[in-house]
Amino acid sequence: MGDLTGLTLKGALEGLATGAFSSEEITREHIAAVEAARPLNAFVLETPDKALEMARAADARRAKGEAGPLEGAPLGIKDLFCTEGVESTAGSKILQGFKPGYESTVTANLWRDGAVMLGKLNMDEFAMGSSNETSAWGPVVNPWRSKGGNADLTPGGSSGGSAAAVAAQLCLGATATDTGGSIRQPAAFTGTVGIKPTYGRCSRWGVVAFASSLDQAGPMARTVEDTAILLRSMSGHDPKDSTSLPVEVPDFASFCGKSVKGLRIGVPREYRVDGMPAEIDALWEQGIAWLKDAGCEIVDVSLPHTKYALPTYYIIAPAEASSNLARYDGMRYGLRVEGANLTETYEKSRAEGFGSEVKRRILIGAYVLSAGYYDAYYLKALKVRRRITDDFDRAFERVDALLTPTAPSAAFALGERSDDPVAMYLNDIFTVTVNLAGLPGMSVPAGLDAQGLPLGLQLIGRSLDEGTLFSLGAAIERAADFRARPAKWW
Ligand code: GLN
Repeated sequence: MGDLTGLTLKGALEGLATGAFSSEEITREHIAAVEAARPLNAFVLETPDKALEMARAADARRAKGEAGPLEGAPLGIKDLFCTEGVESTAGSKILQGFKPGYESTVTANLWRDGAVMLGKLNMDEFAMGSSNETSAWGPVVNPWRSKGGNADLTPGGSSGGSAAAVAAQLCLGATATDTGGSIRQPAAFTGTVGIKPTYGRCSRWGVVAFASSLDQAGPMARTVEDTAILLRSMSGHDPKDSTSLPVEVPDFASFCGKSVKGLRIGVPREYRVDGMPAEIDALWEQGIAWLKDAGCEIVDVSLPHTKYALPTYYIIAPAEASSNLARYDGMRYGLRVEGANLTETYEKSRAEGFGSEVKRRILIGAYVLSAGYYDAYYLKALKVRRRITDDFDRAFERVDALLTPTAPSAAFALGERSDDPVAMYLNDIFTVTVNLAGLPGMSVPAGLDAQGLPLGLQLIGRSLDEGTLFSLGAAIERAADFRARPAKWW
């Protein structure tokens, strides 16, 4: 064999179905690729024994004619998903050693459908970050490098391990989560596809909470269709998550390849921000031209409250985080640092367990929720959030989807922005609005910049209309014919 890691998920499932190779064979090749790629730091935990056991079980089920839709496909799992009996740290020292006694619904759905787990993927601590540098386990290195350069670049964040592992062909696909852009921005930085579905599409049960009203799981893979296949398995109503939507899960893959003729595509004028590299603007124009060629009608739209999106997000997300993270007190999970009394044990555990970005968010969150400031910050932010949602509702009366760049730059160097939290937050300028409104958003690789680094285009859809995004994403994928892969240096 020797090149099974280069297959798409769809191609691998076909090969498994025809018996061209077994799950054990394709899993072994991925395990070897994961081991060889340790310099990327994409995996925080490799689970090769578990992977082989799952692969053999998958082969046995297939032999009995009981193959599920993902039977035998090796995947990577973001470390934010609780996996039963397997250490789940959310990128934080405070959860070191935590082995959940339960499985997240999303991962349980994947195993139900036959998928194989290669291990747990690195991420920003508690999914707070845009560069993977807040991980307690060190940053992930982007497999891509600038032309002629050898500086280590960020794979984006917070799902940087997922993005790097998919781009470097260490797994056929990966789970990820997106609270303000953490699926889409890393996808753009690594030339991979990522979709954040509608809020409520995937159950949050067993996913370590960051900002519960924004958090949503989704897949990353190397093609649009592969993400569609994964999302179908990951989705579904779950009575254990009260915000999970009781709706049917469509066959998302059936939308890939469907004609997009006659669809109306909105181009939001407020997304033309100052200081954006000309190449990103050019790529956006290119995307518009591709969709026009495919028969779409391009419509200029306005989302007037866009300028308030980042401040709104950076009030609401920390507010919810400060509340969610109160549970890490050294008593129930992971790390405990003993003090002279109970209060001191709480304080020491939290002081040592959390990294500085997480502490910053807890402080901001506690501040905006405090009695004197609640109305001025938190309540105001909730009102602006409503306005942002209304902007989208109004736009979707006229268009079927929106097209924007995914991020305002290509991957930057590790260390370049880590001392400037505000510069880091600016990365999320095109993605946070989608979370605030609960809408589906997808990033599709669309080209390379002059440095040879990937750039992504974002598609935003109506609530529960992921299908249209898959049709449009596949159309852009066809037009862009993006085949570039990072040169292997690891
Ligand atoms: N970069 C954003 C943040 O730091 C988004 C993170 C995410 O989507 N999990 O909050």
